[in-house]
Amino acid sequence: MTDTTDTTDTTASGARRETLGFQAEVTQLLDLMIHSLYSNREIFLRELISNASDACDKLRFEALHNPALFEDDPELAIRVDYDAAARTLTIADNGIGMSRDEVIANLGTIAKSGTREFFARLSGDQRKDAHLIGQFGVGFYSSFIVADRVTVVTRRAGEKPDQGVRWESAGAGEFDVEMVEKAGRGTEITLHLREGQDDLLSGSKLRSIVRRYSDHIVQPIRMKKEEWKDGKPGKLAEDETVNQASALWARPRSEIGDEQYREFYKHVGHDFDDPLAWTHARVEGRSEYTQLLYIPARAPFDLWDRNARHGVKLYVRRVFIMDDAEQLLPGYLRFVRGVVDSADLPLNVSREILQESRDIEAIRGGCTKKVLDLLAHLAGEDREKYAKFWGEFGRVLKEGIGEDPANRERIAALLRFASTQADTADEVVSLADYVGRMKAAQEKIYYVTAETFNAARNSPHLEVFRSKGIEVLLLSDRVDEWVVGHLADFEGKALVSVAKGGLDLGTLEDAAEKGEDRQEAEEFGPFVERLKASLGERVKDIRVTRRLTESPACLVADEHDMSANLARMLRDAGQPGPAWKPILEINPRHPVVARLRDEERNFDAWASVLFDQALLAEGGQLDDPATFVKRINQLMLEMGADRPGAAA
Ligand code: ADP
Repeated sequence: MTDTTDTTDTTASGARRETLGFQAEVTQLLDLMIHSLYSNREIFLRELISNASDACDKLRFEALHNPALFEDDPELAIRVDYDAAARTLTIADNGIGMSRDEVIANLGTIAKSGTREFFARLSGDQRKDAHLIGQFGVGFYSSFIVADRVTVVTRRAGEKPDQGVRWESAGAGEFDVEMVEKAGRGTEITLHLREGQDDLLSGSKLRSIVRRYSDHIVQPIRMKKEEWKDGKPGKLAEDETVNQASALWARPRSEIGDEQYREFYKHVGHDFDDPLAWTHARVEGRSEYTQLLYIPARAPFDLWDRNARHGVKLYVRRVFIMDDAEQLLPGYLRFVRGVVDSADLPLNVSREILQESRDIEAIRGGCTKKVLDLLAHLAGEDREKYAKFWGEFGRVLKEGIGEDPANRERIAALLRFASTQADTADEVVSLADYVGRMKAAQEKIYYVTAETFNAARNSPHLEVFRSKGIEVLLLSDRVDEWVVGHLADFEGKALVSVAKGGLDLGTLEDAAEKGEDRQEAEEFGPFVERLKASLGERVKDIRVTRRLTESPACLVADEHDMSANLARMLRDAGQPGPAWKPILEINPRHPVVARLRDEERNFDAWASVLFDQALLAEGGQLDDPATFVKRINQLMLEMGADRPGAAA
């Protein structure tokens, strides 16, 4: 929040002038911005024009219900002027304007969710921080990159001329506000340039910046034309429009350059960086609309913030309707930015109407398909870009497996997982890669879930698969449990957890191995019964396994029970659930198991240790670690006592 009044005085006109303090984060942001974005200083103009354009869009939208807001000035436009003598630049619009309270809230605080977290992430390393700032959005405050004093005079549309507000700040911790007269509605921002910024006081320089960054702005951006005299700019003459002033998305693709697409993205996406990819299409049919959708190159800092508003802008026949129209795309594509312009929706469409509109359903389906197509295209044509995308947004996309059953197959094809085939968590494989590598006799896709990549990679459940050279997917994202819970198969191959149910390698095992199985189960029958009696309630069942080649024992979940990993996640999240009981599987060929089979004196202690170590090996936590340690020590001493020559 803004600090309360520091000083109040009364100006000659009687209007109250107040000096207020910036929210602490604003001061921090200003500081950072001036230093880290200096090499990119020209972007201030893009940001101010972008805001002016949004303000015009908002006015047009509000005027749909209240045409009086246009006052006598219906043609929306943005002006850029400079005054070489005063060393100022002015960016003016006749958009919605701001009231006094809005000025204080908008230009004195940062009203974004996650602001505190954002500032906590700043490292002090300017290069890294500059990137973060870009993600956070620079906006109005970027004017202080080139100005040491900024004056804003604004009046909200529909208010009387005496309801103008003047805001001024040198960017050093505080700002002044006072009420002033302003004849026309809208906002006028004057930048008092810092030393060394005089090159900006040039029509040709400003024009080139506007054309470069703001050509796509829908409203005309007007500047005074210069009359040249003796090879020098002379008198300022009548206005000219500097940009194309038409909706970029409504132009044919062939007429739009990549650079224009990129700059438009920065405007709609409030991003500082270039987008990763985009898709632009006009759809005709039952429902008619144009979509220009972008995939950002980086995840925004508030991607996981449930309250953050996400989505694309909705226009109806070129008229801006709303920001963040989340109904236009499903939640798992919330990172997409851009514009949808519908030819069918009524201009008075509201968020409530959107929720029920059939037209919106068609648009949402169409946009979803376009984005998934774009991703599939990247995955196929530009693996490096796709890997980047996956690193930033993969975890969000995974949510789609449960959220969007109609597109499950398409989303599944876009998933990437770590695998026993690779060495690091970053080397990921697709399900199609996996299927392409499957053994001739292999019928299933195997995976293991664990809390971390290392826990997954070293899971004892993988032993038999390693020994037979069968690939296993290593799933360690929290959301992976949800993914495999909703994804029963891929290309007709069932996805199967290696830590659930009895081991059934199907035709991957030969008859001889199966025969050995039966024989071992029989031979170990009495021992298993003894173990059951000893471990009692701690296990659901005990059986002999071929799953293990190196470990003496492991825990598995029953076929239809939840996995151990999921049970742990739920417990950690404080969610009550039925007590999870594992099945203990023992490796009949392991010397420890053989040793235990012959054990008489300390059978119960050995059995407990066998169970506890199996639990530890797969990432579980012991109920009673102290007793575990005591038992181990006791058994170690006993072993020492057995040694020939040890004191009796
Ligand atoms: P952002 O544009 O990302 O919200 P800014 O710091 O650029 O952040 O602007 C903060 C807010 O100030 C805007 O959301 C808008 O409400 C208001 N604002 C900025 N410029 C203008 C303008 N020219 N006309 C009306 N409102 C404006």
